[in-house]
Amino acid sequence: MYKLLQELFPYNRSITGNGVRKTIERISIEIPLKTTRIASGTQVFDWTVPSEWNVKSAKIYDPDGNVIVDFSENNLYLMSYSVPTNIVLTLEQLKKHIITDKSRPDWVPYSTSYYKDNWAFCLPYNFVKNMVEGDYQVVIESIKEPGELVYAEAFIDNKSEKEVLISSYICHPSMANDSLSGVVLAVQLYKELKNINSNYNYRFLFAPETIGTICFLYNNKEKIASSLEYGLVATCVGDSGRFTYKRTRNQRSKINQIVDYVFSDSDVAGKIIDFSPIGSDERQYCSPGFNLDVAVLTRSMYGHFPEYHTSADNLDFVSEKNLQESLELYLQVIKTYDANCKFIRQSGFCEPQMSKYNMYRDIGGGGEDHLAVLVQQRMWVLNFADGENDLLAIALKSGFNLLDLEKVATELVDAGLILRQ
Ligand code: ZN
Repeated sequence: MYKLLQELFPYNRSITGNGVRKTIERISIEIPLKTTRIASGTQVFDWTVPSEWNVKSAKIYDPDGNVIVDFSENNLYLMSYSVPTNIVLTLEQLKKHIITDKSRPDWVPYSTSYYKDNWAFCLPYNFVKNMVEGDYQVVIESIKEPGELVYAEAFIDNKSEKEVLISSYICHPSMANDSLSGVVLAVQLYKELKNINSNYNYRFLFAPETIGTICFLYNNKEKIASSLEYGLVATCVGDSGRFTYKRTRNQRSKINQIVDYVFSDSDVAGKIIDFSPIGSDERQYCSPGFNLDVAVLTRSMYGHFPEYHTSADNLDFVSEKNLQESLELYLQVIKTYDANCKFIRQSGFCEPQMSKYNMYRDIGGGGEDHLAVLVQQRMWVLNFADGENDLLAIALKSGFNLLDLEKVATELVDAGLILRQ
């Protein structure tokens, strides 16, 4: 995951443009993707797909004619969607087009102006402080013209009517944790889930944040409400922070209960917070017209770590170890959700005579304690295989692990004692 992230890191991504296409092309070497293109100017709900933006170069020359800022060294230097310009300005005039962050004085802040024609450079506060009086030349060779917005999907078809959505976004330029960590985690999740039997199909979305997700929802408006089981927005999963889960807008979503359960059993879990309309793509999924069961599973919450939206969210800020840990937690949530079925007894009158099925007590051998646990687990599942209680309810009542109970339930199904609903 880290290696792929490293490769994707330098591309100049925005909500449209060659950086997005290159990102999708690179991901498609790893996993099969279906790409959707939407022309600039297309109306999607209340939004209009913007013009496409690409940059050839962007530089600031100091009063002596030296290049002091060069976009080719760091794409964060140029505000995303800056329009072309070639102009000489005094320092005072230039400063009106410079964005700095005094609270994080040595880092380049990340800034965008997608829907309003403007240009700006984003520079460390301490750098700007030391700029001398004089005339500066600014040359931005960018192109903003009608083109297209592109997003891509990967799909694992397990012949189910319901699907799980893993949503990531591909619009941030050189930042590692915000955006890209979620992208590489989604790619790896696809590879892991491809070979696992599941009750659900899996869809992986790689779209520019907000407008790309709005396009995806617009194109799938009718289908998604009936097909979506639940979804997770994957972002900020490469740093060393503890995990955060942001619940779906619908408090009763099953995914909220499953993650509550997984977090209660995990030593890397941090906090669980309620839905709010401030955040990432959950804002669209959980808008009232959709109100889908989509949550956010992240590490340090976006906006709540100092490196967020700056040049310090770089390759040193994320690690393979953290990404692996995140992948494992995602898999645990997905597998636990998948395992959480309801069962019903073939005949619910009294207990079955379990010894008849070799499921009661084994005489001799050292495994007696283990068997005793298995017998207890069988008795829990047999009793609550009533068509009402799912395995999560049985796990919470009994204190046994849900995935262990699922193994026991599968044996009981094979023995003909219960049916999966
Ligand atoms: Zn962001």
